[in-house]
Amino acid sequence: MRDTVFMSEMSWTEYEERLAAGAVLMLPCGTIEQHGHHLPLGVDKLLPTKVCEMAAAKMNAIVADPIVYGAKSQPRMGGGQAFVGTTSLDAGTYFNVVRDVLREFIRHGARKLCVVNGHYENTMLVMEGVDLALREARYDNITDITIMRLEYWDYIRDATLNTIFPDGFPGMALEHAAVIETSLMMHYFPHLVDAERIPADEGPASFPVYDIFPHNKTWVPASGSLSPARGATAEKGELLAADSIEGIVCDVKEVFGI
Ligand code: ZN
Ligand code: MN
Repeated sequence: MRDTVFMSEMSWTEYEERLAAGAVLMLPCGTIEQHGHHLPLGVDKLLPTKVCEMAAAKMNAIVADPIVYGAKSQPRMGGGQAFVGTTSLDAGTYFNVVRDVLREFIRHGARKLCVVNGHYENTMLVMEGVDLALREARYDNITDITIMRLEYWDYIRDATLNTIFPDGFPGMALEHAAVIETSLMMHYFPHLVDAERIPADEGPASFPVYDIFPHNKTWVPASGSLSPARGATAEKGELLAADSIEGIVCDVKEVFGI
């Protein structure tokens, strides 16, 4: 057996044996999307894939290759589609990719699945893909499948947020390319963070209650971050990551009784 949690680093027989032994299969879902000047385009796939890697190592789970491209960016969540680099799929394409990939895993023998999302706009479409995969499985009379689905940032504890945001947490909605993602990137991928390019004087985005199309780039701070990443540190990233990993491991073990 190769010493890896990654499906794509296993032989097909190793993968098959681990699934047959009851391993949970984790699927990271991300996107390619602008994350300000200081972070790379791949944050939303790098972070959930890393969280899956760390969590999988604690429970003999397998990590599938992430679904790299994701749902369309929206200004109030990820800056929107007006930015160069943001590379998105149509909604129907996306949920069908999720469906097809999950259906393949089920055909391989996976019965315990956990989808870990790293891009907010994917949320409802992942749910649709999961639902369609389960429906297809039922047509094939496969009924012993459970699919968990989660956002890794929902495991960050209030106590951690209070430590990281002593002046009050502005809310997850404005955390795009801000302190949480930047701190996690500093912790796991310091070579990919250009901290000197965090704007010194940019404030948080402030949105009206309505959306407007085509997306208007001027709604978003010029850098593309929705709120300032100033104050991000690798130490904060370590705290945030620990919450996510511990929380996910705990819930996966509980759901699947492992
Ligand atoms: Zn992001
Ligand atoms: Mn995103």
